[in-house]
Amino acid sequence: MKEAYLYKKLSNKKVQCLNCAHCCIIPPNKHGICGVRENQNGKLYSLVYGKAVALNIDPIEKKPFFHFLPGSQSLSIATVGCNFKCLNCQNYNISQMPQLFGRIEGQDISPKEIVNIALKNKLPSISYTYTEPAIFSEYALDTMKLAKKANLKNNWVSNGFWSKELFDLIHPYLDAANIDLKGFSDDFYIKYCSGRLQPVLDTLKRIKQKKIWVEVTTLVIPSLNDDEKTFKGIANFIKKELGTETPWHISQFCGAISWKLKNLPDTPAGTLKRAYEIGKKVSLKYIYTGNIPGLETEDTYCPKCGAKMINRFGYSITRYDKNGKCSRCGANLNIID
Ligand code: SF4
Ligand code: SF4
Repeated sequence: MKEAYLYKKLSNKKVQCLNCAHCCIIPPNKHGICGVRENQNGKLYSLVYGKAVALNIDPIEKKPFFHFLPGSQSLSIATVGCNFKCLNCQNYNISQMPQLFGRIEGQDISPKEIVNIALKNKLPSISYTYTEPAIFSEYALDTMKLAKKANLKNNWVSNGFWSKELFDLIHPYLDAANIDLKGFSDDFYIKYCSGRLQPVLDTLKRIKQKKIWVEVTTLVIPSLNDDEKTFKGIANFIKKELGTETPWHISQFCGAISWKLKNLPDTPAGTLKRAYEIGKKVSLKYIYTGNIPGLETEDTYCPKCGAKMINRFGYSITRYDKNGKCSRCGANLNIID
């Protein structure tokens, strides 16, 4: 347990958490929406500090990051809890554990131990992922600070529903982020995620302003967010606010492994292709279909001459570029090695 870094005390021993955009007001002995922050006698505590529910070594492509340390492995950690309740969640057994099962699980492991594991395994980065890093921000931040000192990179895989205060706290230690842009309307975010759109857009803009590498992911769910308006809205936002060099991952939804959408079919490859073409039309340089290995739309092509520069099959890659430049025409491929 750790006293929260971002909150304010209110009257009658209530507190307001300033960690994510929900800004929960929490009476004594109650939790915030994420279920992992508790008001104890007028002080707010994180209940997941030092409690890793997942600690794995993953290919960075799994996050997905396609332009950040491509081909590397990353130490990936999570605690239980999330500030969203996405009906499509594939990790609901850990993201919703406090609410569903009334408990918080995880092995005790300190920030220092996490960094040592990364160093021992010669991993260049630590990924804060699987659930929502914003809700374990104290644990993540303390780890990120030590990781930086040890010359490791930090990346967050996140729903982006952060407060400005959280962004200000973590950005000096953040090297890359993959942010879900799950839909492009408040309606979608409210109905299917228990969130809102605008704070996510604000986070993306802030990340870009600080020149932190960002990739965007959209999980395309049949009948919920597979319409042209959504695809165009997201593609145009990326172009206008983040730049055409920002990778957009368009991923296939799989009903069978979702939390509450088991009745919906898997996303057809043709739908992902439709989104891909819309992205191309607004001149995004790097668009990737995901979760269907073998499609040519998961490879990286030179934005100038069109030559294939990274071949992918699932998480394994073959590179043909020269130090992040096209080996045919020399154009920059926006790769961070
Ligand atoms: S992290 Fe977000 S959801 Fe959790 S208590 Fe704080 S404001 Fe509420
Ligand atoms: S934001 Fe991610 S972890 Fe949280 S509920 Fe949604 S899909 Fe699950």
